[in-house]
Amino acid sequence: MRPMLLVTGRAGGGSGGMQRFTCADVEPGCHRVFRADGVHALWAVVAAHLRDVHRRESSPQLAAALQRAVRDAA
Ligand SMILES: [Zn+2]
Repeated sequence: MRPMLLVTGRAGGGSGGMQRFTCADVEPGCHRVFRADGVHALWAVVAAHLRDVHRRESSPQLAAALQRAVRDAA
C-alpha cells in the first residue's frame, strides 16, 4: 500500500518547496520518510502517520519536534 506521500509535478509552485521529514527524528526506530510540496501538505501526512502508527496526539512538544525535524528536500 502506498499512501499519498509524494506530491510532485509542479515546478516553482511558491508554496515553500519540497519538504522532507524523517520520522526517526521524533520516533527512533521508524524508517518512514515523508516528502511533500510545502510544510502544510507534509504536516497532514506526518500527523496522520504519527497518530495512526505511533499513537501520538498532537501537542506543543510534538509540534516543536516536528518543526525541528522538517528539512528542505529541494
Ligand atoms: Zn513513524
